[in-house]
Amino acid sequence: MLDTTLEQLRHQFITLPEREALVAAQKNLADCVAQIASGETRQQVLEGELGKAEANGSVLRKKQERLELQMKTVIASREAEALQHEIHTVSAEMNSVDEESLAFMEESERIDVTLVAARGALVQFQAAEIAAIASLHEAEEYKKAEARDVEEKRQRFAETLDEKWSAAYELRRSQHKGIAVAKVKNHVCGGCHLDLSTSEVDLLKKETDENRECPNCARWLVF
Ligand SMILES: [Zn+2]
Repeated sequence: MLDTTLEQLRHQFITLPEREALVAAQKNLADCVAQIASGETRQQVLEGELGKAEANGSVLRKKQERLELQMKTVIASREAEALQHEIHTVSAEMNSVDEESLAFMEESERIDVTLVAARGALVQFQAAEIAAIASLHEAEEYKKAEARDVEEKRQRFAETLDEKWSAAYELRRSQHKGIAVAKVKNHVCGGCHLDLSTSEVDLLKKETDENRECPNCARWLVF
């Protein structure tokens, strides 16, 4: 009975809801850390891309300025047409570089917003993990104390059982010239030679050690 209780306590210790809660808190924390890391990585990539776009843009701007200067000195209309065409092309390229840069900047801003939120959440998740560790520890200690309590009760129970047994044993010894236990052979009590019936023997075999005694002389019987 007490052993069953101990077994249950052990099971409860392993399956404490606080343990599951800590696992969940740690997962939240790890997810948040991963989210921040991937956001920061993407920010770095975007910074690189923006740098490249800027360099590209300034190359194109210089090219455009050069073409526009050339345009002022051109006389032949065919040459002017070709230059005009080139200026259009450069202008279109500059537009697409600008659009690209804008998209990078917008994405970077969005990531900034999520990073601010994630860093705020991180502080909370860290606090939640600490709290979860503390409450698991508390719950574990509580279960351990419960188990110690049962362990002590079992100890006391074993001691009183021992006392009861030895008192009963001594009583039988004093009543039967020093022989408290008798062996049963061929359904006969070795102490008082009482003939036991088959059903009596069957019943006695089912008894606990303490209660398995001869119905006549009350010696403890062994089979
Ligand atoms: Zn007997």
